[in-house]
Amino acid sequence: MTAIDTLFQNARLTDGQLVEIAVSGGKIVAVSPSRQSYGAVGDTHDLGRRLVLPGMVEGHIHLDKCFIGDDWKPHRPCTAGFSVRERVKFEKEALAGAKPIAVRAAALIDLCVSQGTAHMRSHVDVDTAVGLRHFEAIAAARQAHREKVSIQIVAFPQSGILTSPGTAALLEDAVRSGADLIGGLDPAGHDGDAAGHLDVVFGIAERHGVGIDIHLHDGGLQGISEIEEIARRTRASGLGGKVAISHAYALGQVATDVAQRTAQQLAESGVAIFTNAPGSHAFPPVLLLRDAGVNVFSGNDNIRDSWWPYGDGDLLERAMMVGYRSGFNTDDQLAAAFDMVTANAARALGLKDYGLTVGGAADFVVLDARHVQEAVVARPKPRDVYKAGRLVARGGVMAT
Ligand SMILES: [Zn+2]
Repeated sequence: MTAIDTLFQNARLTDGQLVEIAVSGGKIVAVSPSRQSYGAVGDTHDLGRRLVLPGMVEGHIHLDKCFIGDDWKPHRPCTAGFSVRERVKFEKEALAGAKPIAVRAAALIDLCVSQGTAHMRSHVDVDTAVGLRHFEAIAAARQAHREKVSIQIVAFPQSGILTSPGTAALLEDAVRSGADLIGGLDPAGHDGDAAGHLDVVFGIAERHGVGIDIHLHDGGLQGISEIEEIARRTRASGLGGKVAISHAYALGQVATDVAQRTAQQLAESGVAIFTNAPGSHAFPPVLLLRDAGVNVFSGNDNIRDSWWPYGDGDLLERAMMVGYRSGFNTDDQLAAAFDMVTANAARALGLKDYGLTVGGAADFVVLDARHVQEAVVARPKPRDVYKAGRLVARGGVMAT
């Protein structure tokens, strides 16, 4: 009989069923409504019929930018309308006086984990000013915090690629040094040469066998043509399932038939779309994309950094916000919002062994809600958070 490290009793699944969850070696080895026979059982925990959700998946965050764990830094608006270049300039000035990345990233990781995040994809700035310093700091954080959360790193050209000579080589160095994905930034709008920018991004991805996640704020039909080009290149390179476009605002700005046509191409190419439904901005039509077969996922993106002062790392809050801004009211729609911070994000990140099933990693969060829909609308706290079957946070406080 299987020896069990921990047996969790009275766990309420999202379908309302009460089960016991047996964990061995950090993996779920049984999920059963009735008492099973096991070999030796280490610990037993009664979850008190609370709802058990799979550990949540942060699909897009910037661990190197936040001021969590540092002094409050008032937002500095652009001087004459929004400008990425001016924002980057302001950010560099603010970060020059900030606490070390290790301190700020640790504070943000703990904040996220304490609310139920088990996995993250962090974009990390790589440019000629910072070189690989941010990457190295976040790679060290990935290692230091690996027992609480798994972290993917995207080498992100925040200052552009073609307009910032030397960046392409640095991006490739970051990938050689352990970045999991190669990023991009507005190939046309920022770099002025969509083909040249995408040549670099797809070239690095193909040479090193890594995935791609591109920030695309370019709007309207310009943005649509870039999305279609990314889909075309994904098909041509065989990278389907490993490519994501973050933001893709254009999908929320064009006529429905154009969005549908583009969604079809994304689905056929295996390109996922990330949205965090930010601020007052147009954002992709989640259900249109889902119904076309596109994997749509979410996350918090910027959290209390130079770009905006909002966010607390709670992925249920983010699911609520996406649902609220999308006009989601039905149970099916609320479940769709929940999927964006759990199963869909796990698929976008290529996570193996995800979910509360036999063979899955024992990553879960326990809270007071009757079902997924109530979890999204009420974002209940306190929460108990388990990683690989081990308690990592309780009531918003990290376990020691
Ligand atoms: Zn971002």
